[in-house]
Amino acid sequence: MSKNLIEITNLKKEYLNGDVRISVLEKVNLNIMSGKLIALVGPSGSGKSTLLHLLALLDKPTSGSIKSFGVDVQKLTNAGKNKMIRENISIIFQNNNLLSDFTALENVAIPLIIRNENYKSSIEKASEILNKVNLKHRFEHFPSDLSGGEQQRVAIARAISMKPKLILADEPTGNLDTENSSLISDILFNYVKEEGSSLIIVTHDLKLANKAK
Ligand code: ADP
Repeated sequence: MSKNLIEITNLKKEYLNGDVRISVLEKVNLNIMSGKLIALVGPSGSGKSTLLHLLALLDKPTSGSIKSFGVDVQKLTNAGKNKMIRENISIIFQNNNLLSDFTALENVAIPLIIRNENYKSSIEKASEILNKVNLKHRFEHFPSDLSGGEQQRVAIARAISMKPKLILADEPTGNLDTENSSLISDILFNYVKEEGSSLIIVTHDLKLANKAK
């Protein structure tokens, strides 16, 4: 049975720009159950990335609460937040954020090694996942030698290698052509289906959004 993965209550987020208060999110109430595929759609500047960053624990609400995995995240220490992110959450950005001095294989393996997996099994897992995203022939390539679509597939391989229960994706196909966009959305959607994880995806692509629930 599905249960609430995230419960957002009366969420408010303001930014202070000098003396000017910018109200971005106001009275947001939302429950997200596990195993769901959710698209966040809205005009530019409406607060989609702000909400995603709050859910990724990268920022704090002005007021209101976010409960993730049954825990009120405002009550977590920094160490507690880092643990929750490490164990449960992956975020994928439009500009992939790959480490430029490391190969595709290393970019996927490093987070596993940081999570205390041994080197050999991290490399094996990273290879397996890069195969899955059709990058078998690109293991030893550096990000600068990969196309935009290939870089984003490495970023997605890195995200799913951690087996997150929640993937937050901020316009992951924003810079890509139609073919790469649909390849990437297929990889993400299949992962969510296979693992019973949840995906929250910010997108301007209505075809992609329509595949969500
Ligand atoms: P969207 O993702 O829907 O395009 P954003 O969440 O990026 O919207 O931004 C919502 C609003 O918040 C915008 O008006 C933006 O200028 C403002 N904003 C976002 N981040 C900051 C910040 N760090 N400081 C001040 N204003 C911000």
